[in-house]
Amino acid sequence: MPLVTGSVAERVATLRERVDEVAVAAGRERGSVSILAVTKAQSRDAAIAALDAGLHDVGENYLQEARAKYVDLPPSTKHFLGHVQRNKAKAIVSLFDVVQGVDRLDAGLALARAARDAGRPLRVLVQVNVSPSERFGATPADAPALAARLRDEGLAVDGVMAIGPVEGDVDAAFAAARAAYDRVGGSTLSLGMSGDWEKAVRHGSTMVRLGTAIFGPRTTRERSLA
Ligand SMILES: *Cc1c(COP(=O)(O)O)cnc(C)c1O
Repeated sequence: MPLVTGSVAERVATLRERVDEVAVAAGRERGSVSILAVTKAQSRDAAIAALDAGLHDVGENYLQEARAKYVDLPPSTKHFLGHVQRNKAKAIVSLFDVVQGVDRLDAGLALARAARDAGRPLRVLVQVNVSPSERFGATPADAPALAARLRDEGLAVDGVMAIGPVEGDVDAAFAAARAAYDRVGGSTLSLGMSGDWEKAVRHGSTMVRLGTAIFGPRTTRERSLA
């Protein structure tokens, strides 16, 4: 993990520039990869600092944590990054704009129902499992059929999310995620975190999810604030 120095605003500016450089070097356009600020274990002020620095997307893994942090944030798109439990679907729909990580039909059906009841459109990504170290995710082979079913239920399936392997062949994993995205369709391939985002951009990621790289280590909370 690279040493993280400077304020949130400085780190966002540096990362924005580096993401664009890697995209351009890979033959892609500047601005074709968005940066999602993963605010888990960070304060509400840290989330606001990331938005003030020009980011538009924020993400949380735990509903409880987002409840306190994401109310009345500046204009932003809020992504749920955690595992969807059916009995939490209603609360997830009321707090988040995008659910990254629908990996099975029953969770998708619960979200679709909650979105209908709320009269609110819901964007979702299909989570694809490309790593033996990852517990969740549909197999790449099952992802297109799952996406089709979720679309039948009225969900706006906008692409694929995947988590890279902790060790092993990251390139092979990211290539598999990209192939699944090509079959699922949509406009978002959410791939890459602080430790592996450069590879993800080379494999076609359109959204990198960065926590540590923006906010610093999650264990030293005070020092990681802007
Ligand atoms: C925590 C988390 C991230 C960010 O991880 P960093 O390594 O801190 O960038 C990205 N995606 C998901 C799903 C996460 O849970």
